[in-house]
Amino acid sequence: QVVTRFAPSPTGFLHIGGARTALFNWLFARAQGGKFLLRIEDTDRARSTQPAIDAILDGMRWLGLDWDDEAVFQFARADRHAEVADTLLANGHAYKCFATAEELESMRAEQKANKQPMRYDGRWRDRSPDEAPAGAPFVVRLRAPREGAVTIEDRVQGAVTVQNAELDDMVLLRSDGTPTYMLAVVVDDHDMGVTHVIRGDDHLNNAFRQLALIRAMDAVEGGWPDPVYAHVPLIHGADGAKLSKRHGALGVEAYRDEMGILPEALNNYLLRLGWGHGDAEIISREQATEWFTLDGIGRSPSRFDTKKLENLNGHYIREADDTRLATLVLPAVIAQAGREIGPDGAELLRRAMPFLKPRAKDLRDLADASAFLFRTRPLDMDERAASLLDSAGIDLLAAVERAIAGVDDWSATALEAAVRAVAETAGLGLGKVAQPLRAALTGRTTSPGIFDVLALLGREESLGRLADRLA
Ligand code: GLU
Repeated sequence: QVVTRFAPSPTGFLHIGGARTALFNWLFARAQGGKFLLRIEDTDRARSTQPAIDAILDGMRWLGLDWDDEAVFQFARADRHAEVADTLLANGHAYKCFATAEELESMRAEQKANKQPMRYDGRWRDRSPDEAPAGAPFVVRLRAPREGAVTIEDRVQGAVTVQNAELDDMVLLRSDGTPTYMLAVVVDDHDMGVTHVIRGDDHLNNAFRQLALIRAMDAVEGGWPDPVYAHVPLIHGADGAKLSKRHGALGVEAYRDEMGILPEALNNYLLRLGWGHGDAEIISREQATEWFTLDGIGRSPSRFDTKKLENLNGHYIREADDTRLATLVLPAVIAQAGREIGPDGAELLRRAMPFLKPRAKDLRDLADASAFLFRTRPLDMDERAASLLDSAGIDLLAAVERAIAGVDDWSATALEAAVRAVAETAGLGLGKVAQPLRAALTGRTTSPGIFDVLALLGREESLGRLADRLA
């Protein structure tokens, strides 16, 4: 059975690179009928915070990336990590290194001076701990193979080979007995039964060291198979540089709360950012789950493209259920209106959605476009709207008011017929008549179709807004 995992360090928000890693792991597990696990790598006690953990869990729930089993917290497993280090120690696959900090520093300084790569030289690899002063602090290091080479058949990067001579004996346990990141990841992946490690390619170098550790444990105990690795190229900004805050590398909650992005749009966007299936752009969750393979992951870094995200978001807004959209924009609408809008207002908002959706790129657009519904009389006019209500405009408005006041059936169709008649009598195009009407009804020069605006506002409110201008 396929088991994948997402292993964020809770030192910040769930940024979009992390969200994409989570999505790929989720999709691969679901596509294979396997499991998707979540592990919070909270071993950096100084930088790991509860708000960051909450933001990650919240972001994953929002994106619909549900994980199987309970989330695993890495710090709580420190004893188990130490146990594995002890096993390796007992079996000669690890050793105690008593080199002092000063000693290591001068070793590195010398390497640097000689333009040699800086790596631990294995000075305690073959020495007995008896040679160390009694009670001296030590770290535990992996006795890594020195000859030969390791090749990882990475499912994204292809075959990548590193000479063992280039890898030094990494630390497994620090002198205070706490496990290093390398040890913790390997032990947790094994214990959680992870079969496929899908993560950012900034971890590719680590994979070789991790594999050395896995193989050492396999030699001791058996049952520690190599995982399948898939190291995904990182996301870059539109300018080609590694994605940073400057490029909009925000936490996913910013896409939700500040930019008004729907989760299905962000999912679709993140999926296409580095993964492809022919030329399909709009890919539903169901379709993605069916299609997702590691082979579809591209080898070159993908560029973040805000326009594309907006376009996808616009698509998903048009597809979205009106009640859901109304609920999502309600808080912003209330804030704009500066008052509660009540159940009738909420219902009006829902009925307005079909007319607002076609032009919205995000939920902010939807909220802005619906603001006219809840302005209080007399409406404040923006400058351009006010300029449409000059004396000619007011004359037209008066004619429109007389015509529609007599309309019994307050529907867009009936209202349109009445307003068209006014335009014909005046010898003007419909647009000319619609302009002052729109200004008077909304206080702005853009709105949904004017007959839909009339129908949504209803007879009383519409005639009231016209009367305010004609008074
Ligand atoms: N905790 C690591 C990170 O957030 C991921 C480790 C891994 O995926 O192996 O970068």
